[in-house]
Amino acid sequence: MPEYDFECGGCGKTVTVRATIKEKEAGLPCPDCGSRDLTQKFSPIGILNGCDSSPAWAPG
Ligand SMILES: [Zn+2]
Repeated sequence: MPEYDFECGGCGKTVTVRATIKEKEAGLPCPDCGSRDLTQKFSPIGILNGCDSSPAWAPG
């Protein structure tokens, strides 16, 4: 099942939600506050520096 990163307009957090594409299209609630005001975020990997072996960001 793929994971999606969202920025929540309810609590302001960035949340990762695991859902099917069908579930995502139906609208997912924030796992933290339950708001459905989620904006999907896209990873910068592959946009900024292609498939470089050292990503420009570090998780955490
Ligand atoms: Zn939230």
